[in-house]
Amino acid sequence: MNCNKCTLDKDQSEFYKKKNCSTGYSKICKLCVIIKVKSSYNKEKRSLYNKEQRTLVQNNEKLRNERNLNNRIRYHTKTKKKHNELTKRYYKNNKEKASKLAKEYYLNNKKSYRNRDAKRRAKEIQADLASKWKSKELMNKIKEIYLNCPDGFEVDHIIPLTNDMVCGLHVPCNLQYLSVYENRSKSNKLEINPC
Ligand SMILES: [Zn+2]
Repeated sequence: MNCNKCTLDKDQSEFYKKKNCSTGYSKICKLCVIIKVKSSYNKEKRSLYNKEQRTLVQNNEKLRNERNLNNRIRYHTKTKKKHNELTKRYYKNNKEKASKLAKEYYLNNKKSYRNRDAKRRAKEIQADLASKWKSKELMNKIKEIYLNCPDGFEVDHIIPLTNDMVCGLHVPCNLQYLSVYENRSKSNKLEINPC
C-alpha cells in the first residue's frame, strides 16, 4: 500500500483500519498518523502555554499598576496631612506676618477681588432670575412667538443678548418681529425708540 503522506510503499499492517475509506484502511501510514497527531498536540500545547504566559504577564502588570497607584495615593494623603500641619504651624507661629502679608496682597489686588465678587454676584442674580422667570408657561410663550413669525421676518431681541453695555433677556417682552434686512442692519446694537 502507498502512504499519501510519506509516499512510501508499506505493508497493509502499517496502516490503521478505517471503515469509511474505500479500501477499509487509512490513506496515511501509522507512523505518519502518529507524527501528525503529535505535532498538532504540540501546537495546541504551545498555543495554550503562550496564552497562559500572556495572561500571567498581563495580570502581573495589572497588579504592579494597582500597587503603584495605591502607593501614590497613600503617599499623597500622607504628605497632604503633613503639608497642612506645616502650613498651620507656620501661620500659628507667624500670625502677624501672615496677616500683614494677606492684607497687603488684598490691598494690591483689591480691584480684581471686587471685579471677581461683582461677577459672581451678577451670575448669581442672573441664575436666580432665570430660574424664577423661565417657567413652562413662559417657555411656551417664547416658542409660540417663534412659531408665529411671519415669512420674511425674524425674531429679534429688542435689548440685545450680547452688547458692550447691556445684556437683554430671552423673554417674551424682549422679543419683536423684524424684517430680515432690518434685523441684519441692527445686529447687536442697542436701539430703543421712545414711545
Ligand atoms: Zn507514511
